[in-house]
Amino acid sequence: MSASLAAVTALDQADALRDFRERFEFPAGIVYLDGNSLGPPPKAALDELETAARREWGDGLIRSWNNAGWFSLPETLGDRVGALIGAKPGETIVTDTVSVNVYKALHAALALRPGRHTILAEADSFPTDLYMAEGVATSRPGTTLKLAHDDEPLESLIDDDTAVLLVNHVDYRTGVLRNMAAITKAAHAMGALVIWDLCHSAGALPIALNEANVDLAVGCTYKYLNGGPGAPAFIFAACRHHEALVQPLSGWWTHAQPFAMESRYRPAQGIKRLLCGTQPILSMRALKAALDLFDDVDLAAVRAKSIAMTELFMELVDPLCTEFGMRIITPRDPTLRGSHVSICHPNGYEIIQALISHGVIGDFRAPDIMRFGFTPLYLRYRDAFDAAGHLHDILRTETWREPRFAVRSVVT
Ligand SMILES: *Cc1c(COP(=O)(O)O)cnc(C)c1O
Repeated sequence: MSASLAAVTALDQADALRDFRERFEFPAGIVYLDGNSLGPPPKAALDELETAARREWGDGLIRSWNNAGWFSLPETLGDRVGALIGAKPGETIVTDTVSVNVYKALHAALALRPGRHTILAEADSFPTDLYMAEGVATSRPGTTLKLAHDDEPLESLIDDDTAVLLVNHVDYRTGVLRNMAAITKAAHAMGALVIWDLCHSAGALPIALNEANVDLAVGCTYKYLNGGPGAPAFIFAACRHHEALVQPLSGWWTHAQPFAMESRYRPAQGIKRLLCGTQPILSMRALKAALDLFDDVDLAAVRAKSIAMTELFMELVDPLCTEFGMRIITPRDPTLRGSHVSICHPNGYEIIQALISHGVIGDFRAPDIMRFGFTPLYLRYRDAFDAAGHLHDILRTETWREPRFAVRSVVT
């Protein structure tokens, strides 16, 4: 292997982000390359959960809706996520799941473009985005879902009937990073809106939604933002669209005065129209602590280290590819790459299971993709080096052929 242990150790010693690692809770001996699926707990988030459960829920009881700021958490946390993605205050709200937010965003976009009936999405999109788009199309007679296949640029399919493009900022499979400003501009030039899915970019790299003139965006908080399993998602709407913003999940939290208990619906002003009902407060409290940690983070430094780590890993894996029948499908050009490296191998599932048994946790995406996420806040260059070493050992000794590694779990 080209990079030496000494060189990698020197990189770790010079790393400006190295002190963040101790702010996370980790089992010893684990190389965690799956923070792109579920971030590990910030220690402060575990303390925050304890406080939220015992003091606020236990002692404060119902009073905590007011006294502990529970009711306004979707907005206060929304603004803090907004600061990480280039939004203005009042344009982002933390609520529901990504799937539900895709549903709301698509309905809102279709309503903002009356007379147009087509939703455009990538055939290789994360499935839930497509399933929700299909559901929206079915629920609005006359609406069509059109898919772009095999790297066909979405922009090339826009026509007079296109209301909205649903685009993944970073492709969950290949790790391709899309040009947000260019695609948004092309869509606007043809009169269409764009919804960006930031699941694999929020917290991983600097994002400038308003600079790119983005209309709507959704994203995850349990991946690179480390908010915890099932932590609520976020949704962004540019303030120029707020006046005409409508979505069909008009629950009481979107009402102008939820506690007036009126029988007729009157929408709230602004981003609160994208809420629905009561939110998971304990999860939100954990997310608050996870976002506190980002107050001290320079996302440009995170991005630089992520590029360096993914590059190092690919450089270490490259020499193994031909010999062991693997193919790296993540772009070599760092401007086209997110924060994970994807490698194809027909026995990718078994190889990932063998790696996990060696303490190297990555994941597998059907049909044959092994994914390795590089999260600069808690990983060392040494982790990339060790992961590549274990991968080499497993391929060389063929331990992945042991029958126990072929047993399929529900979550891969
Ligand atoms: C992780 C992810 C989701 C998750 O959706 P949930 O409804 O929160 O389960 C959706 N879209 C993309 C692109 C993702 O990566």
